[in-house]
Amino acid sequence: ANVFKMGWTGSNERTFISVKPDGVQRRLVGEIVHRFERKGFKLVGMKLLQASAEQLREHYRDLSEKPFYSSLVKYMSSGPIVVMAWQGHDVVKSARKMLGETNPADSLPGTIRGDFCVEVSRNVVHGSDSVESAQREISLWFEHHELLCWEECSQPWIYA
Ligand code: GDP
Ligand code: MG
Repeated sequence: ANVFKMGWTGSNERTFISVKPDGVQRRLVGEIVHRFERKGFKLVGMKLLQASAEQLREHYRDLSEKPFYSSLVKYMSSGPIVVMAWQGHDVVKSARKMLGETNPADSLPGTIRGDFCVEVSRNVVHGSDSVESAQREISLWFEHHELLCWEECSQPWIYA
């Protein structure tokens, strides 16, 4: 079965979350993972890696015309990042809410960007903006075998 394409709806929806180089350097990996775990989402893939400029140009290809594109690629390749796939009902939209706005200055306290950063060019975390982007990003950063389907014992306590 194609793990990237099957069952991307309901409680099987998936999103791509990444702790950016500043988030890793500032020891926010545990904090960010903790927030998604506590919320009730299921971790289905996670790894620490050094992203190449090529991968990042592809990841951010929709922004290639922006003036900050090359500095964004440089920032994102400046150190290790943690890439994750999280699964759950409406996870794409919920994760964006948990992250806050693109610009930390517009992000409410209680969101990750609202709580842990100041500048848009150092906003510690990435989250997919749609189910289609999530699908594209997960297949860009993960191999099939790196994504796990597993039974969560807490499932009936999170979903009625
Ligand atoms: P996101 O989906 O909230 O991450 O925002 P975008 O997809 O619009 O932009 C991707 C990333 O580019 C953001 O998370 C920021 O790190 C960076 N970025 C966005 N806008 C700006 C900007 O105006 N200036 C700079 N330097 N970086 C930006
Ligand atoms: Mg985006």
